[in-house]
Formats: sequence, C-alpha cells, structure tokens
Amino acid sequence: MLVYHLPGTFETRENHLDLLWEAGATGLEERAGLIRAYFDERLDLPTDIADGEWRAEADQDWLAQFKANLRPVRAGRVTVVPPWLLHEVEPGQVPLVIEPGMAFGTGHHATTRMAVEALSALDLGGQRVLDVGTGSGVLAIAAALLGAGSALGLDIDPLTIPIARENAEINRVPPGRATFLEGSVGLGQELPEDAAPDGVFDVLVANLYAELHDLLAGEYALHLRPGGPLILTGILTSKLDLVRTALDREGFGDVTVREDGEWVLVTARA
Ligand code: SAM
Repeated sequence: MLVYHLPGTFETRENHLDLLWEAGATGLEERAGLIRAYFDERLDLPTDIADGEWRAEADQDWLAQFKANLRPVRAGRVTVVPPWLLHEVEPGQVPLVIEPGMAFGTGHHATTRMAVEALSALDLGGQRVLDVGTGSGVLAIAAALLGAGSALGLDIDPLTIPIARENAEINRVPPGRATFLEGSVGLGQELPEDAAPDGVFDVLVANLYAELHDLLAGEYALHLRPGGPLILTGILTSKLDLVRTALDREGFGDVTVREDGEWVLVTARA
C-alpha cells in the first residue's frame, strides 16, 4: 500500500486537500499531525504539496484493527457502545448501541460525544427534539432513550436514513419515538405534523459545521419554541466567532461554549 505523508492537519492544509484528490488520492486520513493520502501509484505532485514523503506500508485489515481498538464512549448518562461491547456498559448508564463504520456518529468523535452529553444534561421527558444532520441517528436515538416524547432526525444524505432507522431498531426505540427523514431545515420542506405541530420543537441539536450553522441559524430560530435549548457542534475553535455572531443576529441568548481539543459545542436558548 502506497501512502503519501504530508505534514499538517486537515485544518492547516485545508487548501491543499483538493490538490491531493485531484492528483488521484483514493483516501485521506489525519493522524498525529500528518495527513496520510493513499495512492495507487507514485506520482509527481504539485509544488504546494511536494513537501511530503512517499511510504510503502504493509497492507493491514484496517477495519478489524479499528474495531479491535474501539472502546465504549461515556457521554453524561449515556454510553455509546458497539454491539459486541454491550456487556462493558456500567450499571446505571443508558446503553446506546451503534454499529460503527456505516455513517458518521459512532460517539468516538468529540463533537458527537459533547452533543450526547449536552442532551443528557437536559430533562427531555416528553420533549419534541429535532436533530439536523442525523448521520447514524445517534443524537435522535440518545434523545429518545433519555425520555424524549419524539425525536426527528433529518439528513440530506439519503444513505444515512436506513442506517439511522436500523440503529433505532437495534436500540429498541418504540416506533414513532424516533423518526428519520431525508431533508433538512431551510429547504421549504414540510416537517411531519406528528413530530411537531407547525414544525416547532422543544429542543434542537445539530452537529454540522460553522458555516452551515451561520446559514441555518434563522431556521433554528423558526423551528425552536421560545426558551427552547439549542445545541450546536461540529464547530472548529477557529470558527466559533462566526457561530456566536449568527446566534446574536437571530436573537438567541444564554450562550455557553464548551471546547474539546479543536472542537467546540455551543448551547443557547431561543
Ligand atoms: N448527528 C451525527 C453525530 O452527531 O455524530 C452525525 C453528524 S455528521 C458530522 C453531519 C451529518 O449532517 C452528515 O450525515 C451529513 O450528511 C449531514 N448534513 C450535511 N449538511 C446537511 C444539511 N444542510 N442538512 C441536514 N443534514 C446535513
């Protein structure tokens, strides 16, 4: 297997990632301050990305290795766990089973973990929760397991919807307590009336990215009842101000910020 090691991270070399894809990279990964770009053959690369090193590495069963290294992730009252580690969930914790690797949201990313923690800190009893960018469904399912009356997960990627539905079934979420639909807020899409009358929810959570939060902040205000908690993550620390400004513009208050490494979670109230 041929891997090109480029010094830097996805963030510091954001402008160079396209060059790697255009040169024919078949995959990109970031590990320990290096971008690892997988190639089928050695090539001459453009000057901007010529400061890396080519390495031939032994083929490995990456999936088996990834699965072997997975640990349960404790996030507040919830432990996100792959099916084969269910027995490791501590008594008193709410187990949330996610089969890793099928859609974003195994609990291992700081943003997912912080969002589950933020949900777990709320009293969700009977509440209507909207999860924008649901991926594996992890946040909507967490909300349902924490007692939400209903949770609606939306994602623009149609491939995520059957995965999220299957994860809800694995977690024995009663039918109707977690619903997953292709779509988003801000697309003029009617949201199901039984999920929330007039499309207004008690809690809104979204793990997207700062620029999208900026674009969608007005929609968040429309879909959240006055005083309802908003939980936003997927935000790089360097882009926090963009989100703060958007929340201010749309009249959100009580803003709190939590950081984990380069990632931020913001909470606010409508
Ligand atoms: N909610 C999961 C979690 O917290 O782990 C997955 C979050 S993942 C970072 C973001 C998801 O948002 C992806 O599944 C992506 O397809 C979806 N997405 C991206 N843009 C979106 C949009 N405008 N509206 C709804 N979903 C979107």
